[in-house]
Amino acid sequence: MTPTHGEPMGQVTPAPGSAAHPVRPGTGTRLDPWIGAYADRTHGMRASEIRALFAVANRPEVVSLAGGMPNLAGLPMQALAESAHELILSRGTTALQYGSGQGDERLREQILEVMRLEGIDAHPDDVVVTTGSQQALDLVTRLFINPGDVVVAEAPSYVGALGVFRAYQADVVHVPLDEHGLVPEALEETLQALQSEGRTVKLLYTVPNFHNPAGVTMTLERRPRILEIARRHGVLLVEDNPYGLLGFSGDPLPAIRSLDDEGVIYLGSFSKTFAPGYRVGWAVAPHAVREKLVLASESAILCPSNASQLAISTYLANHDWRGQIKAFREMYRERRDAMIGALGEHIPEATWTVPEGGFYTWVRLPAGLDAQAMLPRAITARVAYVSGTAFYADGQGADHMRLSFCYPTPDRIREGVRRLASVVASESELVEIFGTAAHRELRIVDPTAPDLA
Ligand code: PMP
Repeated sequence: MTPTHGEPMGQVTPAPGSAAHPVRPGTGTRLDPWIGAYADRTHGMRASEIRALFAVANRPEVVSLAGGMPNLAGLPMQALAESAHELILSRGTTALQYGSGQGDERLREQILEVMRLEGIDAHPDDVVVTTGSQQALDLVTRLFINPGDVVVAEAPSYVGALGVFRAYQADVVHVPLDEHGLVPEALEETLQALQSEGRTVKLLYTVPNFHNPAGVTMTLERRPRILEIARRHGVLLVEDNPYGLLGFSGDPLPAIRSLDDEGVIYLGSFSKTFAPGYRVGWAVAPHAVREKLVLASESAILCPSNASQLAISTYLANHDWRGQIKAFREMYRERRDAMIGALGEHIPEATWTVPEGGFYTWVRLPAGLDAQAMLPRAITARVAYVSGTAFYADGQGADHMRLSFCYPTPDRIREGVRRLASVVASESELVEIFGTAAHRELRIVDPTAPDLA
C-alpha cells in the first residue's frame, strides 16, 4: 500500500480488505493512510476511558476522583535529590549504562526483603525486574496467550490489564467477586463450563489486595481455595499485587505466591509504595517461566533502566522505606475515611465498598442511573470519576463507578463527593421524569474527540 501522507480524510481509499473508516463530518480529521496495514491484534486497542478523561479531569477546577495517581508529597524530596546527585557522581558509568536483562542483582535481593513482608520466600534468580508491573503483565500475556485463548479475570478488573489482554486478542471471561474477593464457587463453575465448551483457559488474573477498582480484599480463607481450583484446572494464576503493603490496619496478608511457587506468577511494583516515576516493578515466576520472561523482556526493552533500579536500590538501602510506607498508609487511611464519610453524608442512596487499604472504592449508583452517561454532567459539575464500564471486557458496569481517594486532600475529596451528590440528585430526577433511556441518551458528544472506534 502506498502511504498518502497529508491527504485529507475522505480522499483516501482504504486499502483493500481494510475496515471502512468513517469520516467525521466537518472535523477535518485525516484518515490514517496505514489503516489497512495494522496487525489484527491492534483492532481491540482503544484509549482507556481513564486516559480519555485525563486531559479535562486534571484541570485544577475539577476534583478528580478518577485517576489512580499516588500522592507523592510525603516523599523526602531533598534526600532523594541528593541521593540521585550522588548516584550519578559516584556510579554514573553504571547507572547510565545498559544493564542485565533480568535486572540488577542487588535490587533483586532487596525485592526479596520487600516480599518477605507478605510471606514470600524466593531466590533472587526467581525475580525479573520490569518497567513497572504493567510491563510484567504485558510479558506474561505475550508468553501465554494465543488469539482466542481465555483469560479468566475478576468482574470488575484492572483496566490496564484488560487493555493488555485485548492487545493479545485474549478472550476475557469475568468471574464475580464479592466483599471477600473472587468467589471460589463461581470460579469453579466458570472453569468447568469453559472446559466443557472445549475452550483453552490459560491464565487466572487476580488482584487479591485492595482491589482496583473494587476496593475489596481476598480473605485468607479463600486464597488456598482459589489456588487449588486454578491448579486443578491447569490454569496459571497471575497475582497482581501493587497495593498489598498499603493496608490501613494490621499486617499484610500472605500472598497467594507464598502458598505455591509453581502455579503462580506474582507481580509487584514500587509505584504505590514509593514512586511510579522510576517505572520499576517485578515478576516472580516458576523457574522455566522466569527464563522465558527474561528473553521476552530483552526482546522488548533489552534491559530495565539501570538508573531507575539503582535509584530505588539506594532508596531501599539508605532510607526508612518501611516508615515511608507506614506514613503512606496513614495518609491514605485519612483520605479513605473522608471519602466514606462524605458518601454516607451526601449520597446515602448509593452503596459502596469500604476498602481496608489501597486507593479505591467501588460505588453502586442508585437504580436506573448510568455512570457512563452521567460522566459529562459530572465533569460539568467539576468532579470526575471513572465509569464502571472501563473495568469490564464485555460492556457491563454502567451501574457502578470507581472513586479514588489517593490524590486529593480530604477537604477536596469531601467537596468532590458533594458535587457528585448534586449530579446524582439531578440525574435521579431526570430518570424519574423521563426514564433511564432518556438519561442514557442525554450525552454530550464532543465532535472534536478523536475517533476511538
Ligand atoms: N496492576 C494494578 C492493579 C494497578 O492498579 C496498576 C497501576 N495502576 C498496575 C498494575 C501497574 O502499575 P505499575 O506499572 O506502575 O507498576
